[in-house]
Amino acid sequence: MAGDLIVVAGAGGFIGGHLVADLKAQGRQVRAVDIKPTSAWYQLFEDVDNVVLDLQVRENSAQACAGARTVYQLAADMGGMGFIENNKALCMLSVLINTHMLMAARDAGVNRFFFSSSACVYNAEKQSDPHVTPLRERDAYPAMPEDGYGWEKLFSERMCRHFREDFGLETRVARYHNVYGPHGTWEGGREKAPAAICRKVIHAKATGEHTIEIWGTGEQTRSFMYIDDCVHGTQAILGSDILEPINLGSSELVTINELVSIVEGIAGITLTRNYKLDAPRGVNGRNSDNTMILDRLGWEPGTKLRTGMEKTYRWIYDEYMKTHG
Ligand code: NAD
Repeated sequence: MAGDLIVVAGAGGFIGGHLVADLKAQGRQVRAVDIKPTSAWYQLFEDVDNVVLDLQVRENSAQACAGARTVYQLAADMGGMGFIENNKALCMLSVLINTHMLMAARDAGVNRFFFSSSACVYNAEKQSDPHVTPLRERDAYPAMPEDGYGWEKLFSERMCRHFREDFGLETRVARYHNVYGPHGTWEGGREKAPAAICRKVIHAKATGEHTIEIWGTGEQTRSFMYIDDCVHGTQAILGSDILEPINLGSSELVTINELVSIVEGIAGITLTRNYKLDAPRGVNGRNSDNTMILDRLGWEPGTKLRTGMEKTYRWIYDEYMKTHG
């Protein structure tokens, strides 16, 4: 309902920025919250209540949630494999944000609370083969998630469940699988594979050094969800009666080598590939089983990887030229 305050925590980041844009386009009343100064937000909107707060601090979470009917809790200290494998303690400290935001939402009488979990909660043993069996929601248990980041997400998922059961806070949880698109992190160490590969291909093209470094063998498999599908699915899950954590990801599986080939095709270039075998590369294979979302929402993320990557490449190309061109 228009007029009801919606809080987006982590709004200065990639997914939060797109979510605010979409809610604003629907005419919704939005409070956007992030720890970064607004000058560093990926997207900033004038007619939104933009607030800079460290949500690890309990009083700040209370301030963020005051008067809210809906809360989207996307704030987290995170990044791609290069970041989460080397910053496990920082990733786990996001538990302070999730704890304080849940308490604040409960105390403020929030109607619906969304938490962005991750495919990193899934048991690592189910992801050792590049020829993956797509991950079903029940594959998170018995628990052996990604160390640090994945354990924190799994713990916070359970906290959402118990806040619903014990305090009546209507929590909804999505497990995002690799999200990509424009207005995200593309350099600096926190970027994920799609953005990193676009940047490396653009750099090779701009400098004439026609080589690319690929982390691992390139045979590891993943699926990648375009941001528009993520924003749509997030709101659909929030509004649904799906109480258990649910996959929100594409089921179009590619190897990292295939992803590089897609970007080379967009750029019209072929590069010599150097494989960095000791680089962080995560699990060997991961895909989203979308049986549950198809069954419950009659929908799944459908943007073709090539289509989404063209838009992402164009945006990163412009950003690259602004800073390096
Ligand atoms: P992002 O890093 O772009 O955005 C997260 C935002 O949270 C950042 O702007 C950051 O400044 C903010 N933040 C960090 N600590 C904070 C604090 N103490 N107080 C307030 N704000 C704080 O990441 P994203 O890609 O937009 O991801 C959003 C959410 O989705 C995260 O919870 C992430 O774990 C989850 N997720 C993302 C992906 C993906 O592929 N992008 C995959 C799985 C899960």
